Amino acid sequence: MTQPHQLMNYIAGQWTGSQGTEYIPVHNPATNEIMAHVPLSTTNDVDAAAQAAQKAFDGWRRTPATTRIQYLFKFKHLLEEHADEIARLTTQECGKTLAEARGELLRGIENVEVATGIPSLMQGYNLEDIASGIDEHMLRQPVGVVAAITPFNFPGMIPLWFLPYAIACGNCFILKPSEKVPLTMMRVFELIDQLGLPPGVVSMVNGGKETVDALLDHPLIRAISFVGSTPVARYIYGRAAANGKRAQCQGGAKNTVIVLPDADMEMTTRIITDSSFGCAGQRCLATSVAITVGEAKKEFRERMSEAALKRNVGYGLDPEVEMGAVITPESKQRIESLIQQGVSEGADLLVDGRDTSIKGYEHGYFVRPTLLDNLAPQSDLARTEIFGPVLSLGHVQDLDAAIEMLNASPYGNMACLFTSSGAAARKFRYEVRAGNIGINVGVAAPMAFFPFTGWKDSFFGDMHAQGRDAIEFYTEKKVVVERWPREWSRTF
Ligand code: NAD
Repeated sequence: MTQPHQLMNYIAGQWTGSQGTEYIPVHNPATNEIMAHVPLSTTNDVDAAAQAAQKAFDGWRRTPATTRIQYLFKFKHLLEEHADEIARLTTQECGKTLAEARGELLRGIENVEVATGIPSLMQGYNLEDIASGIDEHMLRQPVGVVAAITPFNFPGMIPLWFLPYAIACGNCFILKPSEKVPLTMMRVFELIDQLGLPPGVVSMVNGGKETVDALLDHPLIRAISFVGSTPVARYIYGRAAANGKRAQCQGGAKNTVIVLPDADMEMTTRIITDSSFGCAGQRCLATSVAITVGEAKKEFRERMSEAALKRNVGYGLDPEVEMGAVITPESKQRIESLIQQGVSEGADLLVDGRDTSIKGYEHGYFVRPTLLDNLAPQSDLARTEIFGPVLSLGHVQDLDAAIEMLNASPYGNMACLFTSSGAAARKFRYEVRAGNIGINVGVAAPMAFFPFTGWKDSFFGDMHAQGRDAIEFYTEKKVVVERWPREWSRTF
């Protein structure tokens, strides 16, 4: 990287300096180097973006859907052409490995692909003769100006859960990316700038809480999408709703997997290692708790300990590295103190990843994989999202007891079962209170054409991101009842 520079906003099709004066540094978590300074944009910046979006809206909604999607085909092509360069930026600002960064961008591009189907997906339905000579039609129309507020852990993918569907449906869209990782979207918006979209259809305002509050309060903004931690999701849902906005808010997680004695133990431990320690555990679909049933305990514990100790931790740009840094020094400190809390609450520390230093990257924020055994289900830590490479193990005697432990979680983002029994799998998917379910799968991430269905404290709202839910969220339904008496046609 060259000298750290000050980042701009993208408003009305122009790169625009923030009207505020406050900037904060963006660090590379593996090296602690400052990569850029990001503005904490003000209410005036948000107002400028909202006004530009509103100005563009009438023309954009009248643009045929078949024309709107041509911009998305071009967008997909540009994202693919620049995928490696975007992924490198993600690794540098977010800490994950290059393979993980490439993978998340691919999952984002899948959403662009699905949104190109909008001419079919956005169709309504109708029925002739609901009464004699009267027809009824349901039409979908765009909502207007919409905004999304996104977290640090998937800088490339999560904004793309929203942007493509929003604009394909004829809305004008404003993004507020995480101030911890703004560079990935800066590069993506340089590509968006090449699309030739009408000014104001897509904007980006960088910033933190003040910027978010301005989006939540702005009268022109009709809908808010949010992904981040549960306390902030709850706050945003409440404030958006109080301002009469439609909101979909995805929160945090503490995902449990259950391992039955009939599971293929080699495959199970390989998959759970990846889902617990991939992205350094900073995934809302990371496995945080693994409960073994009966005889699964011994072999699972031994294999997981071995895998945790072997994981190659370092700078994500190094191709040998399997796990990168965590996002900030505060995050490292928080994870390490939660590990200590687990020990104080009676857990056995099977593998301790604290006090890690990586040769050549001594200033980076690294925590190695950690295993806590026998964490009491009623302990505070059992209910706390750690968001780091820490897996807690629990052991019970039957599937009922395991499901009861799983369902006690306040979160409901994901739950997985490892087994070769179809009956156990059916019982699990029927009884478990979580939205994304995996059977012999470690990260049950829905494809773009299915909704991302967190439950309980992992989601606030009705319509989820992705799939048909995205079309529901980004459109208003209008029902038209028409009477055309038959005798009128006889005059022609
Ligand atoms: P965060 O809640 O700290 O921040 C998310 C966004 O909200 C950022 O853009 C930030 O600027 C803004 N924000 C932060 N505090 C705010 C406040 N007080 N008022 C208004 N806005 C505020 O989350 P994070 O640390 O960036 O991301 C990690 C969290 O996101 C984890 O809890 C993780 O589980 C969750 N997450 C959930 C999903 C999901 O699909 N459910 C996906 C990814 C991440």
